[in-house]
Amino acid sequence: MAGNAHPGILFNPHAYEASELDSASRSLMESTITYFESLGKNRITSDDNAGVWYADFCDFLAESGAFATLMTPAGYGAEDSRWDTWRNCHFSEITAFYSLGYWYAWQVSMLGLGPIWMGENEEAKRRTAELLRDGGIFAFGLSEQTHGADIYSSEMTLTPNADGTYSASGSKYYIGNGNEAALVSVFGKIANDDPDAGVEYVFFVVNSQHGAYELQKNTVHSPMYVSAFTLHEYPITDADVLVRGAEAWNVALNTINVCKYNLGWASIGICTHAFYEAINHAGHRSLYGGLVTDFGHVRQLFVDAYARLTAMKLFAMRANDYMRSASDEDRRYLLYNPLVKMKVTTEGEHVVDALWDVIAAKGFEADTYFQMAARHIRALPKLEGTVHVNIALIVKFMANYFFAPQEYPDIPMRRDATNDTYLFEQAPTRGLGKICFHDWEKTFSKFDSLNISIFRGQVLILRSMLEEAGPEGSQARDIDFLLALGELFSLVVYAQLILENVELMDISDAVTEQMFDVFVRDFSAYATRLHGISGTTERQAEFALAMVKRPNADAERFNAVWEEVSGLMDTYELAP
Ligand SMILES: Cc1cc2nc3c(=O)[nH]c(=O)nc-3n(C[C@H](O)[C@H](O)[C@H](O)COP(=O)(O)OP(=O)(O)OC[C@H]3O[C@@H](n4cnc5c(N)ncnc54)[C@H](O)[C@@H]3O)c2cc1C
Repeated sequence: MAGNAHPGILFNPHAYEASELDSASRSLMESTITYFESLGKNRITSDDNAGVWYADFCDFLAESGAFATLMTPAGYGAEDSRWDTWRNCHFSEITAFYSLGYWYAWQVSMLGLGPIWMGENEEAKRRTAELLRDGGIFAFGLSEQTHGADIYSSEMTLTPNADGTYSASGSKYYIGNGNEAALVSVFGKIANDDPDAGVEYVFFVVNSQHGAYELQKNTVHSPMYVSAFTLHEYPITDADVLVRGAEAWNVALNTINVCKYNLGWASIGICTHAFYEAINHAGHRSLYGGLVTDFGHVRQLFVDAYARLTAMKLFAMRANDYMRSASDEDRRYLLYNPLVKMKVTTEGEHVVDALWDVIAAKGFEADTYFQMAARHIRALPKLEGTVHVNIALIVKFMANYFFAPQEYPDIPMRRDATNDTYLFEQAPTRGLGKICFHDWEKTFSKFDSLNISIFRGQVLILRSMLEEAGPEGSQARDIDFLLALGELFSLVVYAQLILENVELMDISDAVTEQMFDVFVRDFSAYATRLHGISGTTERQAEFALAMVKRPNADAERFNAVWEEVSGLMDTYELAP
């Protein structure tokens, strides 16, 4: 993370400092790095290719107490146990840097723990803290095979018995860790014979080793176990019921609100490792008497990938500050978290695409990290709500973002060792359209460099379009149109938080301008897309064309960034 003893802000296991973490947390991260480094590249890639369950990673987790330390909120575990989002970012980035599979075991455990810690059942919380101490992993049983994103239609049923107990029946699909989880948090409905009674949702926990829990299969070929399972009249008591009614619904959404943030860090970890492999390979490969990195287009691909990756990390870091500072009065994180999920992960795809164009055939080789990255990077935009679902969410914030700015106290960098209590006390996810944001123009007005100014001009045209020719009538229901508009809006918010972090983290002018060189081109491409949408009106299409701009090219700046990129060559290689 920040403070690495090499250029830029990318993670490098050989130069990991993490000076802002307390010493016990830093040792935990270092021992995690040491664990993966000692596994080595051959073992990690062959296990991934063969789809071998990572039993010894689970042993490492139990021995190191990683999950207990990182995912037991303060008050339920050991003294150093707390839910510290910043510390968790380190763990997300490190695990994904070695393989998405390791990250996934952590991610779905976090999802599974969400309804427990957010729920109302103190006894279940104490039991969970013990299971974490004993090295347990966890699972989140929300999805069902036939219903996908439509969780209203969930069929898992909890039926009350005459003696006050319940029995649970139904199937779940795509449930990570469902083969070994100490507890699976299962979402369902409570059976009710009264046809006039409304739907009552519920979260309860089951043990994956119980006789009434039938593990059917792993739905994917991977070290990850993404299970299909069925409960056959699984006996449940009140001790297993976490939360019911409208609150169970809120808890499902709030758990995803918190955990979707980690997907961005997974993309950052994957891209960073892929970057080292790509620059090491291309920088040493000689063709026609020169190096591959002497080609102009190769330098462009690397510089763009580096600018995108740096931007991804700056945004995710800044979103951390807002998430950790959230309160009922400041719910801006509800815009920023879906952006980490949707924007950072799609940017990750662009980074890997660019690097793959450079290293070409090498990116297929079975013993490279890269061939895993090329597959894994695709998963993240699709999980925990597709890009579409997240953009549909994000556009709800657009009117207030542009037209009703509000004053807030400044949010500092949040890397302190505190428990993020609010995440478990979040307000219901209603009223998104009422959330206000600080003024984007104030952030942009602090910078007057060329590409930032060009980008700002593009945003002003977007705002004028919304003012003078905003979505009208049926356009509000035209998802194709809204998605195109949402891409433009997302980039504005993305750029704003990145600029905030450019200031806080003292990022060089050259890298900042290069990031905005990319953003100007991306904004132009999204505007072109909006222009071509069948539902776009003629007037909106005129605005869209006016948004298409050229970035300012500057050879000196480009070369300065290239120097930074080439300085990463040979700084990291995972030993065989
Ligand atoms: C590897 C992997 C691991 C997973 N792990 C878990 C897990 O641990 N626990 C768990 O509960 N689930 C898990 N899932 C399930 C995952 O969350 C599902 O992908 C999700 O439920 C969506 O279902 P679907 O992919 O079948 O898409 P569908 O629901 O079939 O969606 C189809 C299309 O409709 C669009 N769409 C749907 N709703 C909307 C909307 N409201 N607005 C706009 N567009 C919409 C989507 O964008 C998509 O393009 C996992 C899935 C995979 C592949």
